Amino acid sequence: MLRIDILSLFPEMFKGVFGESIIKRAKAANLLDIHLMNFRDFAFSKHKNVDDIPFGGGSGMVLKPEPLFRAVNFLKETTNFAKRRVILLSPEGKVFNQEKAKELATYDQLIFICGHYEGFDARISNYLADEAISIGDFVLTGGELPAMMITDAVARMIPGVLGSEESAPTDSFYNGLLEHPQYTRPRDFEGMQVPEVLFSGNHAKINRWRREEALRVTFEKRPDLLKNAELDKKDKEFLAGLMDSD
Ligand code: SAM
Repeated sequence: MLRIDILSLFPEMFKGVFGESIIKRAKAANLLDIHLMNFRDFAFSKHKNVDDIPFGGGSGMVLKPEPLFRAVNFLKETTNFAKRRVILLSPEGKVFNQEKAKELATYDQLIFICGHYEGFDARISNYLADEAISIGDFVLTGGELPAMMITDAVARMIPGVLGSEESAPTDSFYNGLLEHPQYTRPRDFEGMQVPEVLFSGNHAKINRWRREEALRVTFEKRPDLLKNAELDKKDKEFLAGLMDSD
């Protein structure tokens, strides 16, 4: 079972997201164990301050090192996991992706540190965290939404979390491509038709169509992904045809 500890000043924010749907089911099935901790509880000053003004001047408040070092050390002393990772949610981190979600799902314990205000004292990223992760090139108010998103994406990669009807291997990004288009009933919606091949009953033909559509959608919408996708000879020929007709 993967244990996720989330250190946040606003633990209440997580209740709705973690109390529904697949994450709720993963917790109930003992595949995922989530613990929320308010690191203000590790601020031992009279007013329980977790932030202070930046040295050198400037606006905003910076998260102090002591409460977060104490909180993470407490977790390290009271839990015993062979493979653990301390992760800072921060715009300065490497941008999260599906590869990272797969990798994080192989750990025994993930400790997420959610920032707020102007961010962290640099000693937290330099000495306490194993790595920093960003969810994109924009700035949010806090690390809580990134922690929720990463937990959700990682949970889907834990064997047994998704039912057979919700398979990950065909999802976008899983194999380096966007997903092929999906259709459901009705076959004809106000004159808009479902492609004939999907009714052929020929699974090899359907699978080839899906692969080519995944290649086409990726080529049209995210050509940057094709650089790292695993492509066989047939895929390359299909893409060459798309490029010629461009
Ligand atoms: N002053 C910081 C900077 O310019 O990098 C931004 C601080 S931001 C207002 C407060 C906190 O929100 C950050 O410490 C981080 O935990 C979280 N955060 C904001 N944007 C994020 C992003 N793109 N990815 C991950 N965490 C983010």
